[in-house]
Amino acid sequence: MSTFSAIRIDKAEKGTQAAFADFDEADLMDGDVTVRVVHSTVNYKDGLAITGKSPVVRRFPMIPGIDFSGVVESSGNPAFKPGDFVVMTGWGMGETHLGAYAQKARVRGDWLVPLPPGLSLSDAMSVGTAGLTAMLCVQALDAHGCKPADGPAIVTGAAGGVGSVAVALLKKAGWHVIASTGRASEADYLKGLGADEIIDRKELSEPGRPLGKERWAAGIDTVGSNTLANLLAQTRYGGAIAACGLAQGMDLPGSVAPFILRGISLLGIDSVMCPKDKRIAAWARLAKDLDKSALAAMTTHIPFEKVMDVARDIIEGKVRGRVVVDIT
Ligand code: NDP
Repeated sequence: MSTFSAIRIDKAEKGTQAAFADFDEADLMDGDVTVRVVHSTVNYKDGLAITGKSPVVRRFPMIPGIDFSGVVESSGNPAFKPGDFVVMTGWGMGETHLGAYAQKARVRGDWLVPLPPGLSLSDAMSVGTAGLTAMLCVQALDAHGCKPADGPAIVTGAAGGVGSVAVALLKKAGWHVIASTGRASEADYLKGLGADEIIDRKELSEPGRPLGKERWAAGIDTVGSNTLANLLAQTRYGGAIAACGLAQGMDLPGSVAPFILRGISLLGIDSVMCPKDKRIAAWARLAKDLDKSALAAMTTHIPFEKVMDVARDIIEGKVRGRVVVDIT
């Protein structure tokens, strides 16, 4: 097929506009591997791109979608051959490089990860960018020396994509997990994934004191802003928080007190430009540690036509866990 179905974002009179369109294969960008996209997902960043709420897209026209799993159609890269199952996340896809909400994608082979043994193409997108990021957070806490014997671990934005995977992974690693959520109705869901305690996110979202009672030894924050500042202020001596998100805001209105009086560490996590060896190690551990039952419990499947509706929902904080898109 020389044309295929895709979501296309164009500049509009006011902001941007996203719509389904036929896209010509000849207009795909440079890359040495062409992939038949089988599954994608809806991440928070995809919501930002499709709604135009933040300037995520930096080239027009753009095909949004920051991750996919699929089958190699043609390859000029010695690491891949037609028929190989592959996973792609980040590297600017859906931002500067044409993305995943399309039946075909052309990318650089060194961006691709072979589908990890034990995961299906659908499982890989249940994990997706969000799950990879959660694992990078867990690995950063491990590398820092944080361990379950030190005390509880907190996850913010717990009912979201990164948060849901983080809860399941921390539980699997033996932590007592505190899940912070704004949705009390998701308490049973979070307990099912492994949360031991649920707290209302309001406890953390208002401006707080520079130092508070020491409540957790480690944390994974997907929210930023006051929440991250309060997380740091309530971390036990020597503990660490892995920060990966900004669902509340990009600011960090805290003080240096947790760092200089309690030796707390703030670990920054980026999945987009994360080096390939780190990705492969993270995917291998995801395939091993993430229970299939937890993955199924946190995943909703949608057809391609529903992506734009769900993109709006994710920005409004209405999406639970992970959403897998059937592109075919
Ligand atoms: P989701 O929308 O699935 O999850 C975000 C969650 O944050 C929501 O479900 C909600 O959880 C909570 N939340 C939403 N709005 C607010 C608010 N105003 N105040 C406090 N909490 C709020 O998104 P993802 O899991 O896909 O992504 C989470 C964050 O991580 C995003 O900011 C995203 O950009 C970032 N991210 C960063 C990556 C990186 O490489 N650094 C990679 C992937 C994501 P609840 O209802 O439980 O309170």
